[in-house]
Amino acid sequence: MALLCWAPTNLIQTLHIIRYVTTPHTTPPDEFALIADLVAGLKTPDLADLIVGNGDDCSALRRGHFIDVYTTDTMVDGVHFLSASVNWEDLGWKSIAVNLSDIAAMGAEPLHTLVTLGIPPGFPADSLKKIYSGIGAITSELGGPVTGGDVVRADNLFISVAAVGTIDTRSSEYPAPMLRSNAMHGDVIGITGVVGASGAGLELIKAGKTVPGWAQVHNRPIPDVIAGQVLRASGVKCAIDVSDGLVADLSHICEQSNVAATIEMEKVPVPTQLKDSFPDDWRRLALSGGEDYVLLFACSEEVFARAATAVETPITRIGTVRGKPESVGPVLVIDANGNDITPTRGGWDHLSG
Ligand SMILES: [Mg+2]
Repeated sequence: MALLCWAPTNLIQTLHIIRYVTTPHTTPPDEFALIADLVAGLKTPDLADLIVGNGDDCSALRRGHFIDVYTTDTMVDGVHFLSASVNWEDLGWKSIAVNLSDIAAMGAEPLHTLVTLGIPPGFPADSLKKIYSGIGAITSELGGPVTGGDVVRADNLFISVAAVGTIDTRSSEYPAPMLRSNAMHGDVIGITGVVGASGAGLELIKAGKTVPGWAQVHNRPIPDVIAGQVLRASGVKCAIDVSDGLVADLSHICEQSNVAATIEMEKVPVPTQLKDSFPDDWRRLALSGGEDYVLLFACSEEVFARAATAVETPITRIGTVRGKPESVGPVLVIDANGNDITPTRGGWDHLSG
């Protein structure tokens, strides 16, 4: 198990991990299998208006004319950041950003957030103020103002954020949240930004070679909050945010939609400077680096064309959804010659690191 992981996790997942490590297992299970196993033991929610339960970027409930979406994500010192070197304002920004990205993936508008801090004894108040300065900066820019929270004593610093978003069902022709389970055979796969820069930033930070541009992408990601709403309003019904890695997150869509997908590597948007600086690794960083916080989506050709004109930032078609194969993995990556260059490990696993 890696000690330094620096990747997003989820409060419920964290609690599950804590519960797991206190029991006498010998081999860590797959994160998603563990969650599915634990949730299977719970009573089915008796909520008539529940639209989305466990397993998507957010859960969703119908509330009158609105569909509200809910998510939570936690960052822990020593797992997702190192307090010895982190910029506190960036940490506050990112703790909110990862949650707003999940709300964006549903096509919802951020409504408000709740912030819980776990603070070790003697932790400087000045650093806490900087964390909140970062929180204030992103909520001022992208929405989701803080409406409450909690402070507890903890051995390790952690920030746990719960976020609520909403869709006004009267606001567009397509008011349903975008789900991981809605990809269909023949759909186009699109992406709202570039991938690989965050992973490159992380590698440089870990190597002590901070390059401001990429470190900034990693430390202060900007979730695609507006693009998510525009995609949904354009008729896109399937999306996920890229947190675990492009291939890993597309695999989540495939598994939940019972389809497979092909990515054309030469169409994946990767900054030219990244290709130049990482000539041997840029494909790996783009496909598996993670924490890009762009949106990956699937829709028909017609809807893609509509979305492309509606979204202010460029969207890129990177592949297609196909029928589920019998014996190979859900995601195939091919180069310009059609050769299979699928990475053996697609992205982040919250339990194995
Ligand atoms: Mg997500």
